[in-house]
Amino acid sequence: MNRENMKCQDPLIRITNFDEVALGYTYEQAMNEASRCLQCKKPLCVSGCPVNINIPKFIKEILDNNLENALQTINEANLFPSICGRVCPQESQCEALCVLNKKSTSVAIGNLERFVGDNSTFKMVELKEEIAKKVAIIGSGPSGLACAYELKKMGYDVTIFEALHITGGVLAYGIPEFRLPKKLVQDEVDKLVKIGVKIKTNYVVGQTITIKQLEEDGFQAFYIASGAGLPKFMGIPGENLIGVFSANEYLTRINLMKAYQNTSQTPMYNSKNVVVIGGGNVAMDAARSAKRSGAENVYVVYRRKKEDMPARVEEIHHALEEGIEFFFASNPIAIHKDDNNKVNGIECITMDLSTIDEFGRNNPIPIANSNFNIQCDTVIMALGNHPNPIIKKNLTNLEVNKNGTIIVNEKQQTSISNIFAGGDIVTGAATVILAMGAGKTASIAIDEYLKNK
Ligand code: FAD
Ligand code: SF4
Repeated sequence: MNRENMKCQDPLIRITNFDEVALGYTYEQAMNEASRCLQCKKPLCVSGCPVNINIPKFIKEILDNNLENALQTINEANLFPSICGRVCPQESQCEALCVLNKKSTSVAIGNLERFVGDNSTFKMVELKEEIAKKVAIIGSGPSGLACAYELKKMGYDVTIFEALHITGGVLAYGIPEFRLPKKLVQDEVDKLVKIGVKIKTNYVVGQTITIKQLEEDGFQAFYIASGAGLPKFMGIPGENLIGVFSANEYLTRINLMKAYQNTSQTPMYNSKNVVVIGGGNVAMDAARSAKRSGAENVYVVYRRKKEDMPARVEEIHHALEEGIEFFFASNPIAIHKDDNNKVNGIECITMDLSTIDEFGRNNPIPIANSNFNIQCDTVIMALGNHPNPIIKKNLTNLEVNKNGTIIVNEKQQTSISNIFAGGDIVTGAATVILAMGAGKTASIAIDEYLKNK
């Protein structure tokens, strides 16, 4: 039996709205897809999932028509199936190891996980007896939320401090509505509030309040999950021109401030021809958002080949369907301006990809005299992010790498014994599920630390 394809909004219609693109499985599709699972005795897919969900078990429970049990099985390892089912790069994680790949295509594990998350009701988890010890979580992205959930279940008094007015981290302000509806993210956060996690928004730790002050307030352990929100630029001429954006700013205007809606007070830059630089999920999100915001032509410039792109395969496929055009093996060298200091084009150079680097990837080398221009009025830089240094500023003993990421041991413990860290602030820009996995690991270590204190 072939893999069940998920129904999507028609590309011509969806580029005119911000509604979700992939519409989810029907009941019948979920049953068909679940029946493809071979129920392997030694399931490799489980080791491909960074939080080791018992995948065959939850799939069997779908087949048994017991979605509540399927949800419970997933929740033992992952609180957010509706989110991970939508955004995990399954093709390089759980699904990559599915034995069906040898003969046909893997079971659509992510799609089934989404089906369970979307179609079952969350049962209140059992909380252990309350422990009168306060833990502070800094940042409400997936890593902070996962850590808070685990610690609350253990009985700790947990408070999340979030710099923004809204919770969810990149899930709320980065990934667009058409890929991850924001209501879903807030529903997941509400589950935490229901079990007693306290959330304080508009708190920039390091500025509004320091870790030292929190310690004076009785907090005994900390989990820093402040992500990597400082955009990278290329350092090429023209990056300060009017019409150049970081993907962070562009996506925040759209996702958080709903700049595309007529009622929004946040202005939307009026673009006709947009060039996005980069090849990851951030680049795909920026390009597809630009298309939906009325740009006539959207181009992505990426220095390697299509198969090297770090974006999820589904996002690349959807971007192509939506008419986004790609310049592969190309790198920008200057952004050009008109008389009003506004962007009017970008100059790129073609890259030679014939040499391979030590990691087995193409090593792009500029080809002399291969320059070409793309006419555009907007350039969006989607090159990745650095960690924000604000927390480190007040913590001189906190060891960090040259790039600002926090150094931790295998338990996510930092150089300061009661401070733990995880997610993008440790790894640099990575994935939702890796950030959640780190939060879970840290929760176990924090428990151990507080018990021995
Ligand atoms: P974040 O999600 O960045 O959350 C950090 C939180 O900490 C933020 O809310 C921030 O406001 C807060 N904060 C920062 N400093 C402070 C402070 N001083 N005090 C208090 N709070 C603070 N991953 C995938 O797996 N699949 C995808 O499809 C995908 N698409 C992406 C698309 C975009 C546009 C982006 C930007 C990233 C994408 N990622 C994707 C990556 C993924 O979102 C991140 O790896 C993940 O969100 C990291 O989680 P985190 O909890 O470490 O940090
Ligand atoms: Fe796969 Fe992600 Fe679900 Fe794990 S959390 S099973 S990696 S989709």
